[in-house]
Amino acid sequence: MQPKPPELLKTVVIVGGGTAGWMTAAALSTALRGRYQIRLVESDEIGIVGVGEATIPMIQVFNRIIGVDENDFLRETQGTFKLGIEFVNWGRLGDRYMHGFGPVGQALWTVPFDQYWHRMNGLGRAQDLGAYSITRMAALANKFMPARDDLENSPLNHIAHAYHFDASLYARYLRKLCEGRGVQRIEGKIVSVSQQEAGEHAGHVQALQLENGQRVEGDLFIDCSGMRALLIEQTLKTGYEDWTHWLPCDRALAVPCESVLPLTPYTRSTAHRAGWQWRIPLQHRIGNGHVFSSQSISEDEAAATLLANLDGKPLAEPRLIKFRTGMRRKSWHKNVVAIGLSSGFLEPLESTSIHLIQAAIQRLIDFFPDRGFNPVDVEEFNRQNRFDYESVRDFIILHYHLNQRQDSDFWKACTSMEVPESLRQKMALYRAHGRIVRFNNELFSEVAWLQVMQGQNLRPEAHHPLADLMPEQEVFDYLEGVRGVIGKCVDVMPDHAAYIKKFCAAKPPAKM
Ligand SMILES: Cc1cc2nc3c(=O)[nH]c(=O)nc-3n(C[C@H](O)[C@H](O)[C@H](O)COP(=O)(O)OP(=O)(O)OC[C@H]3O[C@@H](n4cnc5c(N)ncnc54)[C@H](O)[C@@H]3O)c2cc1C
Repeated sequence: MQPKPPELLKTVVIVGGGTAGWMTAAALSTALRGRYQIRLVESDEIGIVGVGEATIPMIQVFNRIIGVDENDFLRETQGTFKLGIEFVNWGRLGDRYMHGFGPVGQALWTVPFDQYWHRMNGLGRAQDLGAYSITRMAALANKFMPARDDLENSPLNHIAHAYHFDASLYARYLRKLCEGRGVQRIEGKIVSVSQQEAGEHAGHVQALQLENGQRVEGDLFIDCSGMRALLIEQTLKTGYEDWTHWLPCDRALAVPCESVLPLTPYTRSTAHRAGWQWRIPLQHRIGNGHVFSSQSISEDEAAATLLANLDGKPLAEPRLIKFRTGMRRKSWHKNVVAIGLSSGFLEPLESTSIHLIQAAIQRLIDFFPDRGFNPVDVEEFNRQNRFDYESVRDFIILHYHLNQRQDSDFWKACTSMEVPESLRQKMALYRAHGRIVRFNNELFSEVAWLQVMQGQNLRPEAHHPLADLMPEQEVFDYLEGVRGVIGKCVDVMPDHAAYIKKFCAAKPPAKM
């Protein structure tokens, strides 16, 4: 049988002009090659959530796809480079470790590098794991340069980086790019939504009614309306799966402060009594926020803790954001696809939300519908989306669960909670022989799990038996060789601030 030609949709309507809305518009305006009308509705009165300033390296792929030049992008968004996240006080009070991007050590063919490290560590002949990671060593020395593709066997080839940027400037930057590519922006507040009453597509969204009287019709609606979830929840009542029993924080207070030197190329996450504080250095300011559990501390106490732990003078009053961790039961329902905060919320401990937006956009392109809206495609989209959310969720729970703090009931409860089976299995494998299994190409690699498990004091009972096949001195020399080469590479890397000044310095900001 000949496959029949698809009946193409004509108009895609994106609801919302935050990071999710404009990223979706940028990707679709590239992928749909001008064959579809793309309209984006946003309300200046409602505005955007205005946080979400740290990313992971996959954003480079997104930028390449939409044709964004790295230096131009950083210049326009007051951006800086990010080589990883430093975690402070997450295991025991006083502990510090880094989840650096890119590899740790250098692979040998039989067993992973970390197995040799476990063996030497057990003998007291290894340095801290981070000493074998170029991104961690460079980050702590405040150095930065992008990977050198031409130096195949050097650690300089393995530098993986992401960005910090100003969320409001990012939305503005993408808007300019999208409008130049034909995306029609409609400013206005949506006050009601009309749905098809009968037929094959009963319940599908037909049009949005704006406060100013304008009606916006479409075939496919992308709900990027943030936590309001205007279409996927308020209209279609899709339902929400609550994960607060695993991730009890439900509030954040965000505040910018003045920059201080040095300009660090990493995010910092510091655990407090009932939550944690982020520190994101930008060119013009530092973004800070305290994520906390309202069951455990008051907003006043959370604000006081936040303000007491700033590196520079605060530039505004702390702003409260409430959230509920979890995900929408279906991110795609009828002709509505939820992307961004409308589809779920996971706290920014590993800077994953913007990546989840990127992944959902790629998936939407993979399963882009025709007029049939085949349920098989929709189901697979939802299955894959759920897998992404759940695997990131497990990684974040790991940080909370694997603490040894005794200074608050909050942390004690995190240690004693039942964790998802998928996470329990990962921890059991690590505890037995230091093995780490990446399920189904999940987002975080073995080396990410390794750094957090080891950094928060989970110790294997034994290492891989095949790591014993190499003579001890040879393994020691191999580890020392890797460490020495990394040290030399970091020495030649430029200072982070100097690199930015040379390639992507932003204009001084307007006075706040
Ligand atoms: C405290 C906190 C910290 C975070 N930190 C990070 C981080 O470091 N890294 C990371 O990757 N992610 C982070 N995130 C997540 C990140 O902020 C979001 O994923 C990202 O900003 C996307 O938001 P959004 O576009 O879905 O929603 P929003 O920015 O809220 O945008 C919603 C849009 O919908 C529009 N809208 C809503 N209702 C209507 C209506 N009735 N009519 C018309 N328009 C409407 C609004 O005007 C707005 O344009 C963080 C989130 C929080 C809460």
